[in-house]
Amino acid sequence: MNDNNFFNYSREFDDRFRYDGKDLGVRCAEGRTVFKVWSPFAESVELRLYRDAAAQPVLKREMQNRQRGIWEQEFQESLHGMYYDYLVRSGGKEVRTADPYAVSCSCNGEKSMVLDLRLTDPPGFSLDSAPPKGQEQIIYELHIKDFSYDENSGIPQKLRGKYKAFTVAGEDGTEPVCIRHLKELGITHVHLLPFFDYGSVDEAGDGSQFNWGYDPYNYNVPEGSYATDPQDGAVRVRECKEMIQALHAMGIRVVMDVVYNHTYRTDSWLQRMAPGYYYRHMEDGSLANGSDCGNDIAAGRAMADNYIADSVLYWAREYHIDGFRFDLMGLLTVELMNRIRRELDEEFGVGEKLMYGEPWSAFSSPMEEGMKPALKENASYLDNGIGIFSDDTRDAIKGSVFQEKEPGFVNGGSDLEQRILHAVTGWKDGGACFVPKSCEQIINYVSAHDNFSLWDKLVLSMHRGTVDFTEPYEDVMAANKLAAFIYFTCQGSLFMQAGEEFGRTKFGEDNSYCSAPEINMLRWEQAARFGDLVEYYKGLIRLRKSLPGLCDKSPAAAQRVTQKRIYRDGVVSFRVDNKTAYGREEWEELLIVYNASPHSYTLELPQAEGGGWTILADGSGTDCRKSAAESVEIEGRSGMMLARGAS
Ligand code: CA
Repeated sequence: MNDNNFFNYSREFDDRFRYDGKDLGVRCAEGRTVFKVWSPFAESVELRLYRDAAAQPVLKREMQNRQRGIWEQEFQESLHGMYYDYLVRSGGKEVRTADPYAVSCSCNGEKSMVLDLRLTDPPGFSLDSAPPKGQEQIIYELHIKDFSYDENSGIPQKLRGKYKAFTVAGEDGTEPVCIRHLKELGITHVHLLPFFDYGSVDEAGDGSQFNWGYDPYNYNVPEGSYATDPQDGAVRVRECKEMIQALHAMGIRVVMDVVYNHTYRTDSWLQRMAPGYYYRHMEDGSLANGSDCGNDIAAGRAMADNYIADSVLYWAREYHIDGFRFDLMGLLTVELMNRIRRELDEEFGVGEKLMYGEPWSAFSSPMEEGMKPALKENASYLDNGIGIFSDDTRDAIKGSVFQEKEPGFVNGGSDLEQRILHAVTGWKDGGACFVPKSCEQIINYVSAHDNFSLWDKLVLSMHRGTVDFTEPYEDVMAANKLAAFIYFTCQGSLFMQAGEEFGRTKFGEDNSYCSAPEINMLRWEQAARFGDLVEYYKGLIRLRKSLPGLCDKSPAAAQRVTQKRIYRDGVVSFRVDNKTAYGREEWEELLIVYNASPHSYTLELPQAEGGGWTILADGSGTDCRKSAAESVEIEGRSGMMLARGAS
């Protein structure tokens, strides 16, 4: 090892030192506490215990060296509630570190904490289970602080922006505004932006600081700034569980956004335990930076992969998390993603836990030999049940996320008809730089926390000069509805940023990762003001769930889409086979039309047996049932869905 902590990794090293036991960290239960760490270069490791995290240690104990770089110490008593850290000694140097496997920590994460985890369960948690998984998953991307920070959220001030905001109860119809909205929208999964312990927000601060949280500090610990008391490490664990339990009780599953591709600082606990091992380096010894965050975790090495897989399984098991969204998945490997899929399936049932990620990286990063990065171009190597965000669908609908004025299909772009028709079949018929294994892999979306909100992008690309982002511009409203209508009628899975359904604005900021909470928060007064748009989304959600031809997650889903037509600039249609094997569906076939042009279009309807065509949705409503005549008028910037019954 040199001064940069460059470590010349080899497979032989892993063969000699890899440890596949599932007991790293601390086990504390039934009057016994066992500490175990992997520190392969250490000459000795000292454990230090604290009653008060800020005071001097009350006990120091040398760890015992086991095989394969393992250090262990056992106590015949419960040390629940004690804090701890380690001194790792090697080559005449001594480094203090917390435990990368810690289940909780002190305020701001500097010391680890021993917990008998059963004592952190809120009442009824052992009986908590996720609501049954439906045919369709509609994922709602939400930041814990954004959800309830607004004074109009209906949440008492001391709980705004906290885990506990989700637990504020009321009778049906009298819940806080934000809770009622979440329950009534119809989404199936809430995907929470990172809530493992991250480093950028002072947990002892006054609460005015904000961060998205993509800066992992303690991977297996909930973030402290969302707890009502960040000083006591047991509180964040209990309150995080209460949040998940409350969401389950609302009938909503919970997805956790996880960031295993890099760490907040390179001088992380992983680095201090095994210098150089957990990070990728370039040939000249410098750190790889495919994450654009200063370092890349070396997925592909045995103990890095074990760490990531164990961490995912831990959250699924201990916190009842129902799915995982992998940040910059392109920096992880296909092999690791498939392994995590397999382990989740084995423990919880096939497909029970969702898995999806960003199939890209900021820059390229050197992989270990023989490993494939989990990039879009390698999608066909990813196992079933590993989804990828479709930037192709996103950009075809609304335009580039990087060029604010560049339009997509719904906001004035041209020559996009063919791409839109590819998006409809989840790119299974080509048209992109990759071919997915099946439509089920494709996550359709038009907005996420990154970049402009959908509303802001539409306003900026459709209006020149000074704009008012809170103004419900008629043309922007129509484009927003059409954008939603399009991705809700694409094969694959569905994902939306919270507030997209009420024209969420960040006032033209595209990178609000550390902007004020007032910029980022959901504005509940706007949710009321844009009620018509909210109703449009609710109808789309209901409709989508009711149509087996659109919910199909089987490999045959793409073949349901037939008769793709382009009529003129901006006007396309296709049909969807809506039949099921049981034959009990109400509608046999769907005819879906998108008109992105500003002018209305008259479409002669094909002959339909069994009572003709019924309009299920158009530009003004998504919950209608109107008999169609021989032709229909599709207004400018709107979509229409027609259905016919059995012939
Ligand atoms: Ca933190």
